[in-house]
Amino acid sequence: MALKTPQEYLDDLRKMNINLYMFGEKIENYVDHPIIRPSINAMAMTYKLAQDPEHEDLMTATSSLTGEKINRFCHLHQSPEDLIKKVKMLRLLGQKTGCCFQRCVGMDAFNAVYNTTYEIDQANGTNYHQRFVDFMKYVQENDLAVDGCMTDARGDRSKRPGEQPDPDAYLRVVERREDGVVVRGCKLHQTGMINSHEMLVMPNNTLKDDEKDWAICFAIPVDTPGMIYVYGRQSCDTRKLEGGDVDTGNKYFGGQEVMTIFNNVFVPNERIFMNGEVEFSGTLVERFAGYHRQSYGGCKVGVGDTLIGAAKAITDYQGVSKASHVKDKLIEMCHLNETLYSCGIACSAEGRKTAAGNFLIDLLLANICKLNVTRFPYEIARLAQDLAGGFFVTMPSEKDFANPEIGSLVKKYSTSRSDVPVEHRQRMLRLIENLTMGCAAVGYLTESMHGAGSPQAQRIMITRLVDLEHRKELAEKLCGVKENTDVDWK
Ligand code: SF4
Ligand code: FE
Repeated sequence: MALKTPQEYLDDLRKMNINLYMFGEKIENYVDHPIIRPSINAMAMTYKLAQDPEHEDLMTATSSLTGEKINRFCHLHQSPEDLIKKVKMLRLLGQKTGCCFQRCVGMDAFNAVYNTTYEIDQANGTNYHQRFVDFMKYVQENDLAVDGCMTDARGDRSKRPGEQPDPDAYLRVVERREDGVVVRGCKLHQTGMINSHEMLVMPNNTLKDDEKDWAICFAIPVDTPGMIYVYGRQSCDTRKLEGGDVDTGNKYFGGQEVMTIFNNVFVPNERIFMNGEVEFSGTLVERFAGYHRQSYGGCKVGVGDTLIGAAKAITDYQGVSKASHVKDKLIEMCHLNETLYSCGIACSAEGRKTAAGNFLIDLLLANICKLNVTRFPYEIARLAQDLAGGFFVTMPSEKDFANPEIGSLVKKYSTSRSDVPVEHRQRMLRLIENLTMGCAAVGYLTESMHGAGSPQAQRIMITRLVDLEHRKELAEKLCGVKENTDVDWK
């Protein structure tokens, strides 16, 4: 099976035995749960669009491992063009869902683990890469959704993994067996975890020689025995339980983050891709983060497109779209959004081939991309709120609009332009609320800040990757502090 349909994907989820808790209770049927289903719908769009001939070029690729047509989310990038198409695919998905659609983390982990395992084997004579290739073929042939899993609980942030009072603060090997290892720990913020078939787990950070137990990379099915999941709350999440479809803002889609607990979980040898090679932990983390920082130059831009569209629509509905400052603000939003896209495209176009054969983005430009993402969506959201006016936070509930006694009065005083149905205004304001302070703000704002590493992580990478001494020398040559041999004519 090369490409799954959304229905087949949903059928897969129904067969999984997920040990999930939410609001203090065990959830048996999570696929049909009103809080969870929008996130499943968002992931399902990655399957739906791959079936659509109009989007075939972006959504599918030819596997470098099998020669088969596969979903691009399962692809190992073979060129800068592939990297660019990835960014465009994520923008398209952001536009279609208006939220985080979750499948990119796995794609970014595939590409980082693929080239890192190759380099581990070259250095140490291990066989991790072939194991990983076998896993990738399985993923591609079955069109699986895989969660890339990195961020540990991390306990006391001033202490390294090996120094924590509770050593489980970072996921680690607690038992070594002939046939595999047992791991214990917790990965936080896991995007789309229970909407995935498998997870690909990586270490959280650069490790030292005495931290080998934490240098573990592996893949397991999401419903492996010993796994416990606790659903993360989102602002306004219980609106999805109210039964309406206006106050949720986004009628169909949403994101998902899950606390992921490994309570003594067995991992067989054939699924282990790093086991104690601390010297490669930094490379793996840096590359995964780099790929995911590139991703944000696509997905956040697509969601930004929906917010710009919502701002444009509400100014039309409320009769202010001709004012010059309104036009200026919309242009400013576009300028910021397209700047993010430019960074995503630039780090892709400057990508280079790794020793393993797949392509890596330009790490400096990917970090610049992500650092901009920590700021611009907030400014775009601020402008959207400015243009919307205050009613998106004071508007009565959709049940008040439907109430037989007061509904007509609520509608009368919520009407803006008489030729625009009041429900259109209501829905658009709720969408702006959803994107800038509701469920989707998790993905559009807070994740823009902290996802793929908080801003300081990008600053550290930029410090490492930018050659300031070279720039200093450029200046010194121009002003005559240093000899300038470039000027050799009279
Ligand atoms: Fe994909 Fe963006 Fe969600 Fe990350 S935040 S999983 S890149 S949609
Ligand atoms: Fe993310």
